[in-house]
Amino acid sequence: MATTAAERKLFIGGEWIQTGDWLEVRSPYDGSLVGRVAKGGAAEARRAVDAAERAMAEPLPAHERAAILDRTARYVEERSEEIARTISAEAGKPMKAARIEAARAQSTFTMAAVEARKLAGDIVPMDASPAGAGKVALTLRLPIGVVGAISPFNFPFNLVAHKVAPALAAGCAVVLKPASQTPLSALLLAELEEEAGLPGGWINVVCGPAGEIGDVLVEDERVALITFTGSAGVGWRLRERAPRKRVNLELGNATPVIVAADADLDDVAARLAANAFSFAGQSCISVQRIYVERPAYDAFLERFLPRVDALVVGDPADDATDVGPLISTTERDRVLEWVEEARSRGARILAGGELDGDLLRPTVVADAPVDVKVACEEVFGPLCTVTAYDTLDEAIALANGTRYGLQAGVFTSDIKAALRAARELDFGGVTVNEAPTFRADQMPYGGVKDSGNTREGPAYAIREMTEERLVVLQL
Ligand code: NAP
Repeated sequence: MATTAAERKLFIGGEWIQTGDWLEVRSPYDGSLVGRVAKGGAAEARRAVDAAERAMAEPLPAHERAAILDRTARYVEERSEEIARTISAEAGKPMKAARIEAARAQSTFTMAAVEARKLAGDIVPMDASPAGAGKVALTLRLPIGVVGAISPFNFPFNLVAHKVAPALAAGCAVVLKPASQTPLSALLLAELEEEAGLPGGWINVVCGPAGEIGDVLVEDERVALITFTGSAGVGWRLRERAPRKRVNLELGNATPVIVAADADLDDVAARLAANAFSFAGQSCISVQRIYVERPAYDAFLERFLPRVDALVVGDPADDATDVGPLISTTERDRVLEWVEEARSRGARILAGGELDGDLLRPTVVADAPVDVKVACEEVFGPLCTVTAYDTLDEAIALANGTRYGLQAGVFTSDIKAALRAARELDFGGVTVNEAPTFRADQMPYGGVKDSGNTREGPAYAIREMTEERLVVLQL
């Protein structure tokens, strides 16, 4: 059951704004009303850019920015249960996972405060060339300008934190457009920033039609950088439309894992069962394609399938639940269609593939041809494939057989095989003896190919959100 319905206004220029129009937020689990938020559009987005520009005209020194970020981290900790309940209610995320997201957001703010305190340029070794002799040069790192941030529904608090916290650390004001399904978490975060003493205009949250608000972020020249997390189609299109801005993209994946016969199969089965189905697979690095060396294939399935069967499917508000709903019935039905496509092409369904009430059961698909959607596109649902392989070459080729490249994993006790896989898997990150769903918030996180063009994590995002200014001194 959802918590009591919340009502929130937009946050622009340090004020909570009513628009006269509302956007309803409904539980993906039972359709009940979770809350409503004021609905904005192009006018509110422009007003937010005005407010951000005004805020940046009076820069905040790094020590103040860091102190605000530290206070936000403390408030996130103090109100973590409320944050987790909000995430769970609007995204349908099981409380187990929602509590982890809230704890991670605290870490994101803490790391951003560290980066605010460390932000510095370089000394250029000028006498290293005859032309520079007699000169000293240094670089300053200056805020790039107003940051436009667009966030997805699946981590409605921590992925907002991954945009807002490094932007503030860099000295940039933010105009944020959260996903329409999950605006309440973003507005709660804005409230915490306000309480932490962030002056008006540094964070502005505008909810409403994506195209309208997105157009303002693309077209208004005062927005210097757009940071986007979401689906590949929307992200790359935004980048095409804004060739003169920095457009940083964090997009999807079809996450592969290679399991060698010398891996600890009990450990692998436990980690993969947890990480293929948590939040119904709606993480960009949810385990999706499992490749097992042939001699270990049956032994792996003997350990894996009972763990999948044991996952608790149900109400995300219930502490025992592992797997809740997909964000919409449209998405659920799409995943079922993809299962049918695989089945019609000869795949076998080893678990799930059907509804439990309104919810899709955790689904395991064997013998899927390489070109069916579940084997190469992003499922974004509670489904994984299992495939036997004979050589590491073959496993790496199968894992790379997708347009995506965010994170991949390999389980093996052979360090040479692990390092080879790490070099040859065409992904932004490779985990060894850990599920590729793993992420700590200070890590450089991002993809290659269709998965994006940047790295998030406060230390990396802050580089993108600052410009290097060269200063040359003639002595
Ligand atoms: P989405 O449909 O692309 O939406 C993401 C955001 O973009 C939402 O705020 C959405 O607003 C907005 N948007 C949609 N059309 C737009 C337009 N024309 N102009 C500007 N903004 C627009 O993605 P999603 O379904 O929320 O999220 C799932 C996807 O995100 C998956 O592909 C997943 O892999 C990816 N993801 C990637 C990462 C990563 O770090 N790499 C992390 C999490 C998720 P509305 O909600 O109002 O439509």
